[in-house]
Amino acid sequence: MTIWFASGNQHKKAELEALLAGHTLKIPAEEGLGFDPDESGESFAENALIKARELYRLVSGLGSGPVIADDSGLCVDALGGRPGIRSARYGNTDGARLESGERNRLLLQELGDNPRRGARFVCAMVLLFNEDRFFIAQETLEGELIREERGKGGFGYDPILYLPQEGRTVAELGEDEKNRISHRGKAARIIAGILAGLS
Ligand code: IMP
Repeated sequence: MTIWFASGNQHKKAELEALLAGHTLKIPAEEGLGFDPDESGESFAENALIKARELYRLVSGLGSGPVIADDSGLCVDALGGRPGIRSARYGNTDGARLESGERNRLLLQELGDNPRRGARFVCAMVLLFNEDRFFIAQETLEGELIREERGKGGFGYDPILYLPQEGRTVAELGEDEKNRISHRGKAARIIAGILAGLS
């Protein structure tokens, strides 16, 4: 089955395609389609559904199959769940977009010496067949924020989320190791299971 994936990221596409054995993913940019959804929802699930519905509208004339979209971020307990759905934009000002190292340092500075360090990555993933028929999986990767960056792998907040059960930060995991336990990997496997169960 060909499935549209609401992303501009080839890396995410390859990662998801590996989990959806037997299915082919297409992303809008590859087909010359402009896709810039307005992520105006109040939760990861709402935003993932907004992206999925918008892509579905865009491709529904193109004889397409279902659509998959995701939304993710880091939720910090001591900050009431922030930056949450605003994780990609955290710390940006009108003109300037922070680099991920700057963003990580700003977040650790905001947390300061607070002993409450619990945080988690969250990923909501939507599989949508039409406006009224869809499935949502939301998963987490639980950890603790350390006081300075550690590790070179991954991206974004990976170097500051420490996993006590692994004894390492997410940025110290290999790519396959991360996919096995990550919020996105777990949500993707649930969606893969739903697809397999439907066919
Ligand atoms: P999205 O592309 O709208 O889902 O935004 C995701 C944002 O959340 C990214 O830009 C990162 O800041 C953060 N994020 C989500 N997943 C991860 C992860 O696995 N590692 C590090 N940061 C993540």
